[in-house]
Amino acid sequence: MLLNISEAKQNEGKALHFNIDVELDSNIIADKGYSFESNVSVDGEMEYDCEILTIKGKATYPIRFVCDRCGEPYIRKVVVDFVENFSNTGNVEHYPLTTNLDLTKPLIHNLMYNIPTRNLCKPNCKGLCKICGRNLNKGTCNCCSLEIDDNNPFKKLKNKLK
Ligand SMILES: [Zn+2]
Ligand SMILES: [Zn+2]
Repeated sequence: MLLNISEAKQNEGKALHFNIDVELDSNIIADKGYSFESNVSVDGEMEYDCEILTIKGKATYPIRFVCDRCGEPYIRKVVVDFVENFSNTGNVEHYPLTTNLDLTKPLIHNLMYNIPTRNLCKPNCKGLCKICGRNLNKGTCNCCSLEIDDNNPFKKLKNKLK
């Protein structure tokens, strides 16, 4: 969805509240196996001042992550506060100013700087058993009681699988 800024242009110097949903392509985060669960919602204010439109917003990205420890998908909302300027002044730090603003690029840019690098389905995720691969959040296995030495058949198998 595009953000129409004509009202802000007609009310120069006045901060106007807005709220829109923007659809982002999951391909931008697909390299890690993540995807967008739904649209990004943006709540903020826009203010036009002579040539520059400034947007101060809070973007909420509902993302389906994959847990680093157990590999299970889970949904978490990443919330990012941002400020971006739009103009046609030639300033390379500004996004182009049009009547209907496309927030896709600034939203991707802000997400890339704020996406968590470590993702756990829960703080105390038990992860997978290193021997049998069972998800230990769903129950225990018997491997833990085995002593692991080089003659252990499980370890030999594990090494083979590497
Ligand atoms: Zn997990
Ligand atoms: Zn096990």
